Amino acid sequence: MAASQAANIVEKVVGHNDNATVTTDVSNYNKGAYGQETGEKIKATTWQGKNSVQIVEMPKPRVVDEGDVIVKVTGSTICGSDLHLYHGVIPQLEKGDVLGHEFCGVVESVGPTVKKVKAGDRVVAAFPIACGECRNCKEQLTSACERTNENSITNAMYGKRTAGMFGYSHFTGGFAGGQAEYVRVPYGDVNLLQLPADVPDEKGLYLSDVLATAYHCVVDTGVKKGDVVAIWGGGPIGQMAAEYSFSQGATRVILIDGGEGAWRLDFVTSKIPKLETIDFSNLPRGESITSQLKKIVPGGPDVALECAAGEYAKGWAHYFEMLLGMETDTSEILNEMITAVRPFGRIGVTGVYAGYTNHFNIGALMQTGIRFIGNGQAPVQKYWEHLLELIRRQEINPLDMVTHRVSLENMPELYAAFEGRDKGMQKVYVQTRFSSPPAEGSPQLTEL
Ligand SMILES: [Zn+2]
Ligand SMILES: [Zn+2]
Repeated sequence: MAASQAANIVEKVVGHNDNATVTTDVSNYNKGAYGQETGEKIKATTWQGKNSVQIVEMPKPRVVDEGDVIVKVTGSTICGSDLHLYHGVIPQLEKGDVLGHEFCGVVESVGPTVKKVKAGDRVVAAFPIACGECRNCKEQLTSACERTNENSITNAMYGKRTAGMFGYSHFTGGFAGGQAEYVRVPYGDVNLLQLPADVPDEKGLYLSDVLATAYHCVVDTGVKKGDVVAIWGGGPIGQMAAEYSFSQGATRVILIDGGEGAWRLDFVTSKIPKLETIDFSNLPRGESITSQLKKIVPGGPDVALECAAGEYAKGWAHYFEMLLGMETDTSEILNEMITAVRPFGRIGVTGVYAGYTNHFNIGALMQTGIRFIGNGQAPVQKYWEHLLELIRRQEINPLDMVTHRVSLENMPELYAAFEGRDKGMQKVYVQTRFSSPPAEGSPQLTEL
C-alpha cells in the first residue's frame, strides 16, 4: 500500500496526460456529479485499504460521455488478479474505488452516440476499455487502446500505456468496476457484446476475461499441432489454457501447481482426463520442476505458459527482496520456464507482473534461443465473438470452471475465502438482486 500511495502522490504532482477521449477517474459514483440525482442507491464492492473490501451504498451511475452505456449487473465474479489489488501491490488504488473487471447484465440506458446496443439487451463487458478507433484498436489490440487511460505513471514505467480497465485502480484509468449492481461502460458499442438467448449469464459472463485471456495466451504464444505444452498455475486461466492447447493440436499438456493450490491438479484433471500434472510441493528429493519436466518430456516441452503471477515468492531471497522493495515481482517461475523448455522453445507470460524483477536468467534466454513473449493484457474484443460461437457449439463449457455461486452482499467474505485459496473454489459466479435463478448445470447459492 505504501507504494500505491506514493504513486498517487507522484501522479498528482506530475499530472495526467491528455490523450483520453473519455472521462477517466470515475472510480466511484459518490465522487463529483457522476451519480444520478434521483436519489436511487446501489450496492458496490469498494477497496478500503490493504486486505479490506466493503459493500457500500452510492448513487446509481449516469451517462457521463456520449458513448456511455449504463448496465444493470446480473452476473459478476472475483478474479485472481483482484487479489493483487486486495494486497495493494497494484499502484494507485484509492479508498472507496469500486472493484470488479468481469461482469454481465442488462442495458438500462445509453448515451446519444450509442448505436449497436440498446436498452433491454443482455450483454457482457470486456475488461479492457477500448475506443475502437485509435491505431491499436483498429488492429484489434484493444487492451492497448491509446484513448482510455491518461495515467502518466503507467507511461513513465512502461513507456506506453495499457487501455483503461474496469475496477483496476487509477493506474488503468480509474474506472468503477462491475462488482456492483450498476456500472458505467464507456464506449458501450465497442466494449459490450450482446448475449443470445441460448447462452445463460453463467456461461457468457466469462467472456469478460478468463475465456479470452486463456485463449490469447495460447494463440499468442503460438501453440500448434504436435506441441508439448507445460502450464504453470492450475487456476481458471491455466485450466482453460490446457483445454485450448489441446484444441490447437498439442499432443501433451502438463499442468504444474502445488502447495495450497495442489487440489486444483485433481480438479482440472477431472475435467480434462488426458492432462498430466506435476505437484511442485511434492517433488522427489533433489528434484526441481525443470528436472522433472526433462524427465517426463525428453529435451523439454516446446512451449511454457505462465498462468500464475509474479507476486508469490517461493524462496527466501525473493521473499525478502520484495519485502524490502528491491523488486516488485519474483523471477522464479520465469527462470523455471526458461530452463525447462527445449532450445528455441516459446514462453508466454499471462500471469500478472507489475514492475521489476531480480536474478532473471537472461544468459539462458540468450544462449538457448528462448522466445520470451509477454502476452499483455488480453485484447478481449478480438476473440469474444469466436469464443461465443464455441460456447454455442458446446466446444467449450465455461461451467467446467465454476464451482460456487454467492451473493454480491457476501463479497468481503468471498475476497477472504479467495485469499485463503479455499479448497475447491475455482471460479465463482456472483449474483445480484437482478440475477435469474441458477441456469442448468451451474452451482446453487452458497452462504459464506
Ligand atoms: Zn479477471
Ligand atoms: Zn482505441
